[in-house]
Amino acid sequence: MGKTIGFIGLGHMGGPMAQNLIKAGHSLKVFDLVPEALEAAVKAGATAVESAARAVAGVDVVITMLPASRHVEGLYLGDTGLLKTIAKGTLVLECSTIAPESARKVSRAAAQLGIPMIDAPVSGGTGGAVAGTLTFIVGGAAADLEAAMPYLQAMGKNIFHAGEAGAGQVAKICNNMLLGILMAGTAETLALGVANGLDPNTLSEIIAKSSGRNWATELYNPWPGVMEQAPASHQYAGGFGVDLMLKDLGLAAEASMQARATTPLGELARNLYALHSAQGNGRLDFSSIQTMYYRAKKS
Ligand code: NAD
Repeated sequence: MGKTIGFIGLGHMGGPMAQNLIKAGHSLKVFDLVPEALEAAVKAGATAVESAARAVAGVDVVITMLPASRHVEGLYLGDTGLLKTIAKGTLVLECSTIAPESARKVSRAAAQLGIPMIDAPVSGGTGGAVAGTLTFIVGGAAADLEAAMPYLQAMGKNIFHAGEAGAGQVAKICNNMLLGILMAGTAETLALGVANGLDPNTLSEIIAKSSGRNWATELYNPWPGVMEQAPASHQYAGGFGVDLMLKDLGLAAEASMQARATTPLGELARNLYALHSAQGNGRLDFSSIQTMYYRAKKS
């Protein structure tokens, strides 16, 4: 039977995730700071409300999909935070990619108020969000994950329990550090081939069936025109922002320092994305790192 869900954060990911919950028969009360994002959700059948507090009032489940730790802590914690409004026993699914320590902090505060919460960051990109095939990487109590299953299954295909609160974020950060490295490596490789006279389509086809293949060459090629559905073929609009990738590589660097691990390639990728962002590309899709590798035209 359909439940009532308060959904906050209707961006590139949250928008389509909310639509899949509506398709699964749930009633959604939605809130975002951007009016256009709200309009799109209303067209899909959601009810827009004028504040986050209204979105969580009288609902069965709360779902948030926000940019970073500061947005999540700002929304849930403090005297006017949402944890003060959410009814005891209401299940909360926090799906943003944030620092594991932030996830633990919010989840501890929720537990003290009798509010069950899981961190459930996702992988699979905007394509996965639209298709309802996301991978959810969950941290929290097994019983809370079980209760969350029907909602996660409406938005995703693979659901993993990584461990206790915050563990979902650790696993997600590890995955995204690898993604950042692989995308930069793919962009560098394609630029090398093209600079040596290869056609980017032919080279991409070869790599996709050879040992260098990866998610970028299979689904998200960074060279414009190679894959019609990829952001690279649409001026790098939409998708996963450079600044969001930079945030995740920063989280990986923090996790690395805290555990005294060594992540030299992760650090190199973080510096590449930082430079790319500083050149005014922060809002483009992260595959636009490709443009850093174009060879200057000979005059
Ligand atoms: P986005 O910037 O497109 O969307 C975030 C939305 O949150 C925006 O619409 C913004 O207005 C809204 N928001 C921010 N603060 C708010 C507040 N206080 N109240 C209400 N709304 C608020 O980002 P996105 O690409 O959808 O990513 C969301 C999260 O998912 C990030 O943590 C990101 O790292 C992660 N993620 C993104 C992708 C991707 O491919 N885009 C993939 C996996 C994970």
